[in-house]
Order: sequence, then structure tokens, then C-alpha cells
Amino acid sequence: MRDTASGPRVLLKRLRELMQEPLEPQERLDRIVRDIASNMVAEVCSLYVLRADSVLELYATEGLNPNAVHLAQLRLGQGLVGTIAASARPLNLSNAQEHPAFAYLPETGEEIYNSFLGVPVLRAGRTLGVLVVQNKTMRHYRDDEVEALETTAMVIAEMIATGDLARLTRPGLELDLRRPVSFTGLSFNEGVGLGHVVLHEPRIVVTNLFNEDSEEEVRRLQASLGSLRLSIDDMLERREVAFEGEHREVLEAYRMFANDSGWVRRLEEAIRNGLTAEAAVEKVQSDMRARMLHMTDPYLRERMSDFDDLANRLLRQLMGRGPEDVAASLPKDAIIVARSMGAAELLDYPRDKLRGVVLEDGAATSHVVIVARAMGIPVAGQMKGAVSMAENGDAIIVDGEEGIIHLRPQPDLEAAYAEKVRFRARRQEVYRELRKKPSMTKDGVQVDLLMNAGLAVDLPQLAEAGAAGIGLFRTELQFMVASTFPRAEAQERLYRDVLDAARGKPVTFRTIDIGGDKVLPYFKGAIQEENPALGWRAIRLTLDRPGLLRTQIRALLKASGGRELKLMLPMVTELGEISQAREIIDREVRHLSRFAHHLPTSLKLGAMLEVPSLLFQLDELMKAVDFVSVGSNDLFQFVMAVDRGNTQLSDRFDTLSTPFLRVLKQIADAGARNHTPVTLCGELAGKPISAMALIGLGYRSISMSPASIGPVKAMLTELPLDELQAFFDDNLMAPAHGLPMRALLQAFADDRSIPL
Ligand code: PEP
Ligand code: MG
Repeated sequence: MRDTASGPRVLLKRLRELMQEPLEPQERLDRIVRDIASNMVAEVCSLYVLRADSVLELYATEGLNPNAVHLAQLRLGQGLVGTIAASARPLNLSNAQEHPAFAYLPETGEEIYNSFLGVPVLRAGRTLGVLVVQNKTMRHYRDDEVEALETTAMVIAEMIATGDLARLTRPGLELDLRRPVSFTGLSFNEGVGLGHVVLHEPRIVVTNLFNEDSEEEVRRLQASLGSLRLSIDDMLERREVAFEGEHREVLEAYRMFANDSGWVRRLEEAIRNGLTAEAAVEKVQSDMRARMLHMTDPYLRERMSDFDDLANRLLRQLMGRGPEDVAASLPKDAIIVARSMGAAELLDYPRDKLRGVVLEDGAATSHVVIVARAMGIPVAGQMKGAVSMAENGDAIIVDGEEGIIHLRPQPDLEAAYAEKVRFRARRQEVYRELRKKPSMTKDGVQVDLLMNAGLAVDLPQLAEAGAAGIGLFRTELQFMVASTFPRAEAQERLYRDVLDAARGKPVTFRTIDIGGDKVLPYFKGAIQEENPALGWRAIRLTLDRPGLLRTQIRALLKASGGRELKLMLPMVTELGEISQAREIIDREVRHLSRFAHHLPTSLKLGAMLEVPSLLFQLDELMKAVDFVSVGSNDLFQFVMAVDRGNTQLSDRFDTLSTPFLRVLKQIADAGARNHTPVTLCGELAGKPISAMALIGLGYRSISMSPASIGPVKAMLTELPLDELQAFFDDNLMAPAHGLPMRALLQAFADDRSIPL
């Protein structure tokens, strides 16, 4: 086939040679603009680069007054150049001076040029500068010339991105791309991470920007597009439950895009202009993203992110980049920056190199966040624009406490955070030492500190945190990170792994607690509810779908053969639910023993206390079960009528308020009266001040996230329990001076130097 654009190809070949020559950056730029001008038969070619102060500075010119280089400047939005940068779109004018935005810069001597073609220098949809050609004659540049200039601009974007021009900047007038920026979003998981950016979505590198043989590249593109289409068709045809509903719509959209002739034509055109297939995908995507930047229609924005995702899949196909290659090239302090990400994708990265995760989208409850939390990785989310501002290898700080990220931080900020990380590490060292100490109050009362878990990735924490066992294993997490219902065998395998990892330490499995905010996209039976928190969830749902519960119970019984099985039911509202569940369990036990299965040595059945109705039948409850576990997250939500996920209300009511503490005391007393063990496994157990209160109220076993065990144990070993009990005797029914309980507890701890 005839090469339709030999001009651009020759130019790109020249540029490749120039990039390889050992030149000073200014000289390289000067030669680039000279070559572009001569190749495009233009009298002028100029490059403007965007600075951090939103000013476009002339960096190189062929044809304009050379003394204006680094002096001539335009604000973003000012003049033709500023308009191109602000809109991220090219301008092609035969009579530039007639354009309303035209601004004359006397130092450049450009008044004699009539025709003007300017294109934005783009990278990942973000404008880094503007490249312009001008002619004296009034002419309209052809489409292939616009395309050629855009392709050339891409090479310049690479030069800017790799830091090549950094030496040409003056102090205080740095390039926009290297500007330190901070983003404020939301904290999805605590912790602070310092490291270097790893963009989750691949971005091309300069070494594979230019092609040697465009026909061969077009063939590669077609082959990859072919496999991409096949994989989408395959997913659609498999008709897996996971791909029904919304998932299916997304895939249908992908299929449509993958066959979109406009997209494919633009890709091929970019290759024929001299780019590799990878660079062509990046270029077309970057142009499209820049053009859609100002789009407000949420539907179109959503489609754009589908398109992005598709382009990334195509890039991965072309680069043949599997998870292993990703792992090998990872820095040892990787901070993954992604628009969005699946839970399984995070698990592809080696844990020992991960220092943090930054997401543009996502929610605290998204699956990737659940997994990151289980792995103890700081996560900051809702960081709009972070992906296009970040470059692979940039220094970055993730502050998971505040929900802030700092990209390319100034040295003093970096030093402050490094100190914070060192401080945390020293504290961790203290906690590690504490593991060897008995888990007792200062006056020798034993308190079991257990951890909450839910995935296989949590298990190593059992030993690391020094937990006495797993007080809450949230079995629904396996269901939430999967794309279809986990099969019985997969459930059994996980439960067995958990028990093996616990090495005889107690583990309490909670039956699947879905519904409310825990949604399974593939669960077809889910219903629309006005009040999901009060709706069809947890034990209510599983009693109505006994097949689900039966499969799980059978898997649990089999996995616990020869060991103790502790099982608890979430969201119990009335005692009848416990007996119904017990019937199902008994039936499964009978079934397994009939087939001579190895059964658990003992089976303990407990109920979670999360619904206030149980507070008015505490003695009956204690008699109906082997143990009770207070789910303080839900119990607080229902006692105070406050949605646990509503950030507007999160600081309004105090979990240590007198009425709630009185409720907690009644539960502990009822447990003691009936000799029924009571534990608590909500977030309340993980804060040293509230853990202290719980112990004072009579709790001798509490379960929390693994990271909390150290701080809670540091408090525990300094706590004189007899004094705290006396404190509650005096204050629980009549708080001193009418002060809030939290303040009184804080003062109690301060007076005795108890670390909180
Ligand atoms: C709770 O409600 O306190 C609890 C431990 O369960 P979850 O947070 O999983 O609802
Ligand atoms: Mg709960």
C-alpha cells in the first residue's frame, strides 16, 4: 500500500535521529523547530511551553525574532496560543490577524505572517504547551498537515515529560508538568505512604514512539484489535452471571467502540504518519480526552471512561504486558495511581513493594479498597485529575489519614512526612515488643485482643499483630471481591486456610452478611429498597435463601473437621431466627455424618447483637446461644438512628455518650449473669479510649482491625482496672460535673499516663 504521508514520516525519522544525538536541550529544540519548518514549508515554527504559573513561554522558534525566546510569553487563554492551550484544540487560520483572540507580541516581529496553524502539546489529555507553524501567504493547512503537526507535538510532549527541558527553566518559573501539586479527596484507608508513582494504566515510553515499518505496525494493531474484540465477544457469550445487567451494558459498549470505524481509522492514520501502534493509541486517546475535558454530560463522561479502559486494554495487548512484567519493573516503594481499579488487579502487584494506592474514583466500600485495607495499604480516593497530573516515577506522598496526596512534593514537606513515617515505624517497633507481653491490665486481669478479617490476604496479620485469634471473620468479603458466587469448594478452601493459619487460635466465622451497603452485583435476587440498612439483609436474606446458607454451612463444617467451629449470625432481630438457623445447621450436621464426614469437635453458635430489639430480651438471648458478639457499628446506627455511612453526621453523635455506654454495660452484665461469653467486634474496639471504656464496663474480649491491636495493647498494659471500675461506679449513672463521658475518660487516662 502507498504511504499516504511521506512528509510526516520523513519528519518523524529526522526527529528520532535528533532525539538520539547528544545535544543540549536548547539546541535539540532549536533543531526540531527548524526541521519542522522546513519539512512543512513554513516560514515560522515556534514552541511555547506551559509553566507552573499558567504562562506559556516561547521556548524555541524558527523564523520569529530569536531574542524573544524565553522572553515572549502569553497567559493561558490569551492570544491564539493561549486559546489553543486553554481549549486543547488546534487552530487552523488563513488570516490569523482577523481572529478575535489574536494578540500581537512586538518582540516576536510576527505581524507579517497571515496563515497560522497551532496544535496543543498533549500528554494524557493534559496540555503541556503549544506548537505553531506560520506562513506569509494566506493558506489553509491541509488535514494531513494538522495531523503531522499533532504527531510531532507528541514527541515534544515526551521530551517535556521525561524532564529533558528542566535545565532550561529558571527558578520560580518551572514547567507546569513538574509543578508540585496537592489534591484533597477522601481517606479510604489510614496510613501514610511515601514513594514513587506507578500509573496503573500503561503509558507509552519514548523508545517505542516511532515505527520502522508502518504496514507492519498496522498489522500489529489489527491483530491486537482482533484479539481484543474476540475477548469481549467471549465474555459476552459466556453469559456469566457476572456479566448480566450493568456489566453487560458496559461490555456491549466496549464491543461497539472496538468496532468503531472512526476510532480505527484515526489509529491507522497516526501509524501511517510514523508512530508505533502503542503511540497511536496514546495519541488518539489523548486528543479525545482533551476534547472531552469540558464535557459535563455524565452519560458521555461515563462512556469516555469506558473508552479509556478499552484503550488501556488495547495497549496492554500491544505491549504484551502481563502481571509478571509489571511486578518486575516496579520500584520498591510503588504508589499505584489509577482512575479506578478492580480488587484482583491490586492483588497482581507484589505486596512488599506497595506503599499506597491513589484512586480518582471509587468509594470507601469499593472492593479494591476493602482488599487494600485488608493488606494494610494507605488509600486515598476521589482524587479527580490525579492520573493526568502524575508521571511514572514522580515522587508522591499518600496521606491516608487526611485523604490528601502530594505529587512532586517540596523537600520540606517530604521531610516532614518522612519524619511522620519514621515516627509511625518507631511506634510499630514498640507494639512489636509488646506482643511478647501478656495481654493483661496493669492489675493482672486478662483481656483477649482479637482481630477482624475476611480475606486470605489478612491471614499473615494474625501473627504480625499478635492477635489472640480472629473474633470476626466477615465471610461476605470473599463474595464481594468475586465476580460470581464463590463455589462451595472455594468457600471450603478459604475457611480451611483460615483455620490452618490460625494454628489452633479461636476463629469466629460470621455467616454471609450481605444487603445494606454490601452489594453483590451478580446477585439477581437483590431488590430495590427505600431503606437498605433496615431492609432485606444478613440473616433475614439468608433464611429466605436457605440454599446460600446451607452451602456455606456445609463448607464451614467440612473445613472445620477435627477442630472447633465457632459460627455467628449477623443482624439477629428475634430469637426465632436463631432457632431457624440452628435447624439448618443441625440438618447439615446430620447429612455430613450420614456420609461419614469428619465433623468439627465442637460447634458453638453465637448471635451478633446489632439490633436494639435484643436489648429487651437479653437474658433470653444469652440462654439461646453459646456466645454473643456486639456489632457496635450497626448497634450504634440503630440506637442513635444515625446512618453509619453518612459523613454529614459522622461527628454529630458520640459513640462514648452516656446512653450508649449504659447499653453496652447492660449487655456485658447480662452475659456475666448468664455465664455467656460476650465480645464486641465493631470499630469501637479499635480505638484505645473506647477499648478502655469497654474493658471498664466488663468486656474481656474485643475484636478489631489488626493495626489497632498494638495501640490498644499499649493502653491495656498501663490500665489499673480496679480504678476504672470505681470510676464507672461513680460516673456512669451521674457523670461528674455533667461533663461528657469522653472528656471524663480522657481525663482519667491523662491523670494516670495511660497512652491513648
Ligand atoms: C458491626 O456492625 O459492628 C459489625 C462488626 O459488622 P459490620 O461492620 O460488618 O456490619
Ligand atoms: Mg454489622
